[in-house]
Amino acid sequence: MNFFQYTEAKTTRDAIKAKQEKEASYFIAGGSNLVDMMKEGIQHPQQLVDINTISGLREIKNTGDTVYLGTLASNTAAAESEKIINFAPLVSQSIVKGATQQIRNMATIGGNLMQESRCPFFYDVSASCGRRTVGDVCPTVTAKDGIRTNALFGLNESCNTPHPSDMAVGMLALRSKVVLQSKNDTRKLALDKFYHIPVKENTKITHLQDGEMIVGVEIPLEHGFNHSAYLKVRDRKSYAFALISGAAALNIQTGTILNAGLASGWVGTIPWRFEEAENYLQGKSATETNFRQAAKIAVSGAQPKKNNAFKVKLLEKILIRTLLMAKNTPYGTNN
Ligand SMILES: Cc1cc2nc3c(=O)[nH]c(=O)nc-3n(C[C@H](O)[C@H](O)[C@H](O)COP(=O)(O)OP(=O)(O)OC[C@H]3O[C@@H](n4cnc5c(N)ncnc54)[C@H](O)[C@@H]3O)c2cc1C
Repeated sequence: MNFFQYTEAKTTRDAIKAKQEKEASYFIAGGSNLVDMMKEGIQHPQQLVDINTISGLREIKNTGDTVYLGTLASNTAAAESEKIINFAPLVSQSIVKGATQQIRNMATIGGNLMQESRCPFFYDVSASCGRRTVGDVCPTVTAKDGIRTNALFGLNESCNTPHPSDMAVGMLALRSKVVLQSKNDTRKLALDKFYHIPVKENTKITHLQDGEMIVGVEIPLEHGFNHSAYLKVRDRKSYAFALISGAAALNIQTGTILNAGLASGWVGTIPWRFEEAENYLQGKSATETNFRQAAKIAVSGAQPKKNNAFKVKLLEKILIRTLLMAKNTPYGTNN
């Protein structure tokens, strides 16, 4: 039995303070990931700071320039919100491809972004794992041929596990920003600046500071995206994480792409954005030929080993298909 203190926070400031006061403190939101980590003996909190008791963190609103999701909005509430479906449908499209209805009912926005690795070496507490123990090196990093699920981008000397979230990939393609609150300040970080590739000095993959909490996510509407799609390819159709996923958001005006967002899940150690491919598409016609070229550009930096080399071609095809799906899915037609 692991004993831990349980603290209900009434305000964000209380939550941050309580977390800082005790070693090994964790915020708990839906608990769908953290409780698993505790049961598996991967994380050993001395204190859980329950943030569900803080009011005002569940709202979903359209401010005109942005759509805003409070950190405690459930994944279901986000996926079913008219504000999301009408103005940022890619968030809904990506959420509904993840987990199950029951888990999505519990899962929150902040918890989803912060969810842990699904790597078998991370779950096996007897294995060396740089994401669980500082200084450890994953056997798949040193293995000549790697393993099937290894990431292709953002590789590092201690860990090559791909990031598991679907929602984060949809949000990344929409150039979303994470809103972080500390004791006296609020700051916003673009999602691709919020995550960083694993480092051997610690087990973190985000720039969230000890004295900070995620309070929400802001999705800017200035890019004018009016078409989007999320494609999740997996070994089993239901209740499974992706093998590779693709997210595309396009602003298409009379056949020309004014702006593109392109990202992928399960290929990077963090949700992976293809900025060069996005730039290539800007100003081009929304044609399959251009989508093919963009996908070629996207995969050009991949670093496969023998056991995951098949994913480079698969990723290229998924990105082409996702872009074609997006072209055929204007906002308001399909979720
Ligand atoms: C069987 C199963 C299948 C799944 N399948 C998928 C899938 O296909 N796709 C997918 O994307 N996900 C999947 N998930 C993961 C699921 O999406 C996450 O468990 C969920 O999103 C986590 O949210 P939560 O609110 O329950 O987080 P919690 O478990 O409460 O917390 C997770 C982490 O986030 C931290 N945290 C929570 N809120 C904040 C905050 N506001 N600020 C800072 N840190 C915070 C916690 O301290 C903890 O470290 C699956 C989960 C399960 C159990």
